[in-house]
Amino acid sequence: MENLKLTSLKGGDNRRTVITVDNVKIGEGFVVIAGPCSVESEEQTIETARKVKEAGAHMLRGGAFKPRSSPYAFQGLGLKGLKILEKAKRETGLPVVTEVTDPRDVSWVCEYADVIQIGTRNMQNFSLLREVGKVDKPVLLKRGMYSTLEEWLNCAEYVLTGGNLNVILCERGIRTFETYTRNTLDLSIVPSVKELSHLPIIVDPSHGTGRLSVIEPMSLAAMAAGADGIIIEVHCNPREALSDKHQAMPPDMFAGLMRKLQVLRSYMKEINQCKKVKTLE
Ligand code: PEP
Ligand code: MN
Repeated sequence: MENLKLTSLKGGDNRRTVITVDNVKIGEGFVVIAGPCSVESEEQTIETARKVKEAGAHMLRGGAFKPRSSPYAFQGLGLKGLKILEKAKRETGLPVVTEVTDPRDVSWVCEYADVIQIGTRNMQNFSLLREVGKVDKPVLLKRGMYSTLEEWLNCAEYVLTGGNLNVILCERGIRTFETYTRNTLDLSIVPSVKELSHLPIIVDPSHGTGRLSVIEPMSLAAMAAGADGIIIEVHCNPREALSDKHQAMPPDMFAGLMRKLQVLRSYMKEINQCKKVKTLE
């Protein structure tokens, strides 16, 4: 792949980017970001934030600007939603990840967000990429649902050339002929990204599968594939969720997933140790 001047791993240099957000390090260990698809109310957001924190999540997600397929669907609370996220952070200490959809909103949303999310539909919104390239907040760049790895890394390059070197890639599933799952989660992209780029990569099994029963196994698989973390939609009352209710994980199920991730993490440490021993021989 040509012209990935800042995004690609330099020959022989294996240094990986680690992004620090408050006390969380993305690119070191395994980071779990959890929270509702949309910020719907103060009660819903804060209750969900408390529960994910209790279960061991490291960061809070929640959309205040929602890119919806229908103009009649809930579009998010905007500024009111950002203020709710700010309060949820004050109450739990969890840093906040939230999406921006319009270049004109980038600078002021940065006053509320710890990490700016660029959604799948905006991956190639080049004016938005240039705008987030200018700010000092890390950017979580989701893979476009129709995009190749090369196209995705080129979008990261747009942000990096703007001067913002803190990009977290996020695989969230791509469109294929399969319809049972909402998208096809492409976990093979995780080791592929690691081969080509120093940037951290996390996985979104919620949008990647759209099915509650598939999210847990795919979260564990993401860890096994070498991802730097996951982002999961959790709702304190999934049946009432205003967006993506079929993939909204209830807090008790999320707590169970966190326990399993912890067990798998110790196996992964052993496996990574085997890799090291092999290279020493
Ligand atoms: C989201 O994370 O809320 C979202 C809309 O995700 P995506 O852009 O991957 O569909
Ligand atoms: Mn969602």
